[in-house]
Amino acid sequence: SSSAVADFGLIGLAVMGQNLILNINDHGFKVCAYNRTVSKVDDFLANEAKGTEVVGAHSVEEFVAKLKRPRKIMLLVKAGSAVDAFIDTLLPHLQEGDIVIDGGNSHYPDTQRRYEALTKKNILFVGCGVSGGEEGARYGPSLMPGGNPAAWPHLKPIFQAIAARAPDGAPCCDWVGEGGAGHFVKMVHNGIEYGDMQLISEVYHIFRDGVGFSDDEQSEIFAQWNKGVLDSFLIEISTDILRFKDVDGAPLLEKIRDAAGQKGTGKWTAISALDYGMPVTLIGEAVFARCLSSIKDERVRASKILSGPTTSRYTGDKAQLVKDFEQAMYASKIISYAQGFMLMREVSHQFNWNLNYGSIALMWRGGCIIRSAFLGDIKNAFDSNKSLECLLFDPFFQKATATAQSGWRNAISAATLIGIPIPALSTALSFYDGYRTARLPANMIQAQRDYFGAHTYELEDKPGNFVHTNWTGRG
Ligand code: NAP
Repeated sequence: SSSAVADFGLIGLAVMGQNLILNINDHGFKVCAYNRTVSKVDDFLANEAKGTEVVGAHSVEEFVAKLKRPRKIMLLVKAGSAVDAFIDTLLPHLQEGDIVIDGGNSHYPDTQRRYEALTKKNILFVGCGVSGGEEGARYGPSLMPGGNPAAWPHLKPIFQAIAARAPDGAPCCDWVGEGGAGHFVKMVHNGIEYGDMQLISEVYHIFRDGVGFSDDEQSEIFAQWNKGVLDSFLIEISTDILRFKDVDGAPLLEKIRDAAGQKGTGKWTAISALDYGMPVTLIGEAVFARCLSSIKDERVRASKILSGPTTSRYTGDKAQLVKDFEQAMYASKIISYAQGFMLMREVSHQFNWNLNYGSIALMWRGGCIIRSAFLGDIKNAFDSNKSLECLLFDPFFQKATATAQSGWRNAISAATLIGIPIPALSTALSFYDGYRTARLPANMIQAQRDYFGAHTYELEDKPGNFVHTNWTGRG
């Protein structure tokens, strides 16, 4: 109808929704805004959106009528029941082929469920991971859309226009895969973010307490690292954090209570790794490290009674140790991303999502928290071999881990000998050593399981043939 003027509809006028609307408007698309608390629509039009092409609606009926068909409606509301509530409210007003996009931080099984329900009603549902926070939403987020592929041609021009750009100019947004794939990939992104942050904090810990570097000295080291293989947003902000002074001139960082919070996306990644039987150990350790940090009072009591090694200071060559930790962090990141992609491969296989791994690396290349130069190498690895089994099979990463190996092992030895905890750095090395071991000791576990529970075992020379032994000779 003639009242259908808007290219895109957005529901949810909190900070993310407002910023995304302004971003879409900047790129020449006409947006219609709506919100549960309708007064926020007029507030937005009169203030943040003043002077833009953005229009508003005061009811769902008016909102839907203002959208060109097929309608493209994005929800940026609180994850959970608010999404279901709005879908139910919208449904009676929608027509076949209309597109509903959930841009919130929904858990991927919810997205899969909504996708299945809306597919039956011929509504094209998309779950889109949005990364980069408020700033990203306003000036270029990383967007990870997945769901009904028929929606993508309609969304592509808008999404790729508003997304962040990789350094080579490519938009950090592409079709991720079917069903709940978009939100799943966003979840893994957040899990990897937990891992990267934990790795940095472990290095900071040994540099501060094991070596005795000042925060300013560490800031210098990280600034150097940011010019090499570790070039990334998280190293960059850590450099700033380390040199930031409180009003009294002392580093603000050292005044912050060492108890990490979490909102659950790292935990979801770890749970999904356990559910699908994938050894995503580094993200798991990163989540547990936050848990350990948060039982601060108990740790303070333990610190008074539990002894550590006699030497708690590193006495070797400090410059060499810095080099070793650069290698350790790099190799551990390779392991963490390899593990994350293993999880994505397995879950994609289970759900038939057809994940596009090279595009995923590209989407993370800019706009989001884990953006880094390193993701360009991951993209190259999947571009040169679409069916790459694991990042560690790629010649570039095979060589990178081989080169990093001796520094990595030295770094872990140094931290272990002086009693500084490095759960993420060390689990990465254990994974690497396990992954490259053709014969693990799991035969012992199989024998034990058969001994106490008659679970049977398989003989090396008779694959597929499971037998039980009476290990005690009794009854
Ligand atoms: P938010 O605080 O998560 O949600 C507020 C919005 O949700 C408001 O528009 C509110 O409407 C609406 N809402 C809440 N409960 C509702 C219900 N039961 N029914 C209908 N609407 C309801 O807003 P946000 O921080 O902008 O985040 C939006 C989404 O993006 C969330 O899923 C969030 O996790 C995700 N996200 C946030 C960030 C970030 O940096 N903040 C980054 C990436 C993704 P009223 O005005 O009527 O209360």
